Amino acid sequence: MTLRLTNTAKTYPDGTRALLPTGLTVDTGEVVSLLGPSGCGKTTLLRIIAGLETPDAGGEIWFDEDNVTALPVERRNVGMVFQSYALFPNMSVRANIGYGLKMQRLPKPEIDARVHEVLDMCQLGDFSHRDIAALSGGQRQRVALARAIAPRPRVLLLDEPLSALDAALRETLRDELAILLRKFEITAIFVTHDQDEAMAIADRVAVMSQGRVAQSGTPEELYRNPQSAFVAGFVGNAMQLKGQIDGSALMLPGGVLPLQQDGTGQDVFVRAEDVLVDPTGPLSGQVESVTFLGTHYRVSIRGIMTDVLTSIFPGQNAPKPGDTVQISIKPEALMLLQQTGSAE
Ligand code: ATP
Repeated sequence: MTLRLTNTAKTYPDGTRALLPTGLTVDTGEVVSLLGPSGCGKTTLLRIIAGLETPDAGGEIWFDEDNVTALPVERRNVGMVFQSYALFPNMSVRANIGYGLKMQRLPKPEIDARVHEVLDMCQLGDFSHRDIAALSGGQRQRVALARAIAPRPRVLLLDEPLSALDAALRETLRDELAILLRKFEITAIFVTHDQDEAMAIADRVAVMSQGRVAQSGTPEELYRNPQSAFVAGFVGNAMQLKGQIDGSALMLPGGVLPLQQDGTGQDVFVRAEDVLVDPTGPLSGQVESVTFLGTHYRVSIRGIMTDVLTSIFPGQNAPKPGDTVQISIKPEALMLLQQTGSAE
């Protein structure tokens, strides 16, 4: 199913403009993540799609050729998975998954067949008779997904479904969820404030800021070609190189960097992995701290710009705190973005 939002906005009764007019299309079978900091409007957008909130006048929500804007939640046939699983604790896994199907008054053999199918796909067969209370967090999360999927919803909406889990489990389930969503071939929207999670799960990420979609694209597009300082910073933690631009040169306290083009009126950003410790580099600074992270070191350097500049050092023999280091940054690694003048 293709989901299409046009001109969808939300102003809450107290006047809060949680969502500015937004357009969004999610193709059949596509998994789109809504990524953004707390309060940017992700949940509001998801609740509007579900039918739990009414958009401001003028906004429309389409499921294929059906305008569902005025339909209540129970008539939209959406599946939902939340952070709090909202499972029935004293019912078995099987009963939880079958619950929605019973409500739909499906015949018993049909219910059994569908429950069996999702139990199998979610690898829950061994637990089907257990009570929810006797399951781990990860198993509960899978049951919640299975329950949402069983009624064959037109679209699946997931709101931070992994955020109640500890870090290690979260990572495992993140990959599992990505695979399961593809298996189900369901159109899905996944809300998160965690960029790694969004990148790992989604075909396309819509980065939200202050009630609007700042940019949407594949994880690679957002990472390589951010259109704003906000997206550059939020996806992949780009750092702004604050200095004076003079044509195609950037003058920093620690030296001068060549740019690929005239950068007048633009802000310059770089990612830590493109900041290289290089004895022939044009910039000079002092190492403030070095952190060993297994596959690489993270080196913080002062004196190159006003703030600390972070470099990823991949090999052995990383520099030590107090060392003076030369730094190079390839001109093609510098991202030139239009100055917005806003506080985004
Ligand atoms: P989080 O990641 O913290 O859940 P979010 O991006 O999902 O945040 P929303 O919950 O959509 O953000 O909230 C967007 C804005 O709307 C926030 O400023 C929030 O305080 C406000 N808001 C949410 N619900 C209501 C409400 N019922 N009445 C008034 N304002 C609300």
